[in-house]
Amino acid sequence: MARTIIVSNRLPTKVQRTDDGLTFQPSEGGLATGLGSIYRADDNIWVGWPGLFVDDPAEQQHVADQLRNDSMAPVFLTETEIRDFYEGFSNSTLWPIFHYFNEYATFEEAHWEAYVAANAKFCEAVLALAGPDDTIWVHDYQLLLLPQMLRRARPQATIGFFLHIPFPSYELLRVLPWSTELLEGMLGADLIGFHTFYYMRHFLSAVSNLLGLPNQNGQIETPSRMVLVDAFPMGIDYERYATAAASEAALAHIQTFREAVRGVRMILSIDRLDYTKGIAQRLRAFEELLKRYPAWREQVSLLMLVVPSRDQVTQYQALKVEVDELVGRINAQYGTIAWTPILYFYRSLPFDQLVALYRLADVALVTPVRDGMNLVAKEYIACKADQHGVLILSERAGAAQELSDALLINPTATSKVADVLHQALTMPEEEQKSRMSSLQALVRQYDVFAWTELFMNRLAYSKIKQLTLG
Ligand code: UDP
Repeated sequence: MARTIIVSNRLPTKVQRTDDGLTFQPSEGGLATGLGSIYRADDNIWVGWPGLFVDDPAEQQHVADQLRNDSMAPVFLTETEIRDFYEGFSNSTLWPIFHYFNEYATFEEAHWEAYVAANAKFCEAVLALAGPDDTIWVHDYQLLLLPQMLRRARPQATIGFFLHIPFPSYELLRVLPWSTELLEGMLGADLIGFHTFYYMRHFLSAVSNLLGLPNQNGQIETPSRMVLVDAFPMGIDYERYATAAASEAALAHIQTFREAVRGVRMILSIDRLDYTKGIAQRLRAFEELLKRYPAWREQVSLLMLVVPSRDQVTQYQALKVEVDELVGRINAQYGTIAWTPILYFYRSLPFDQLVALYRLADVALVTPVRDGMNLVAKEYIACKADQHGVLILSERAGAAQELSDALLINPTATSKVADVLHQALTMPEEEQKSRMSSLQALVRQYDVFAWTELFMNRLAYSKIKQLTLG
């Protein structure tokens, strides 16, 4: 029987080293949930890196045995690969370029070589499991070369690729000395998916400009095959958030939080510490609100949850300092004995507290300067059982293409964002409900399960189409 193999840089299980040895914790990220019904079914499997360095062969065997019970197969990365492939080319070259931060990008030949070698390592791991007619679904920017490597070894396989981050315009992409190789790598797939039509259009024009391959109706004619390209905006597990936010545990947390803040209104922001998230822009906009609308002082706080991320990379360390300083300065300038303007947490929170915050917040302020999708915006919507709350969303997040009933902003327009904050805080309850209910209908319908099904159906279709044409 043909199998389906999912491949991503990280496995949907977090393996950690503790004093008691290795621990295995299932990740509850959207992708893991959405693909759960696929990789756990039949003989299917998910191939990826378990997220930590393991070099002892006995320990590697132990990890592989444990993961096999849950339909996963590990790819072990060496310390050099983690540094040059993962932190290097993936996070210090591709991530900044694809998010339009080309001034942050490094261009190291050694990192590129490590990227090629690591993609080949993933390829070998997949080939050890894949038969000639299997379906292979490759995920994200760490594995752009993998579809082509797999295609060479398995010409008949059905190969899908999905990019979870933006695809930049040709002008940005051409900055990369290896752009041609990366595009060719992706074109090994039968179907290439993006979150939005804009990313898809950028990809098509890059392929046409750099490789001279024409396209029509989202189909690229390569010398050997036809490749389909399409937009599949990723959703969340709506019911999981909606149910959790309405649970007794969440209501108890909300009660505790409410008592602690004593009637002060809450603006919420949640993201990883990343320069793409517009954290400094958000803080400046909130400061502007306090400056220009003094009536909000002591009446509203910004609850900002920042999850530590990539703290080995220089720009992330510098951003941490910048955010700490900004928060300190604003709190020192406007705070009173009874009121702290910015409640700042630098950590991650357990799921039940996270959904309680979503449910509690009067406003969610989502300000990325670039974001492939932004799931936080969708999670906020799903948690609003009473439909009270306003979503302010950057027009530069992929999610803005779908969530047109949010208040859309340009995160760098500080003064306008302050006005929109005021608008959100004074929005009549009726308007909040009507906007929220149409947002909820959309996020509920296009959930992560619908996303998976759409992609898999389209992938099967791409193969049928090739066969009928070929
Ligand atoms: N998140 C989490 N723990 C936290 C805060 C956030 O697991 O303490 C999750 C959040 O629920 C969301 C994800 O992190 O699912 C962030 O996804 P998003 O698409 O917004 O941004 P990314 O981090 O992928 O760039």
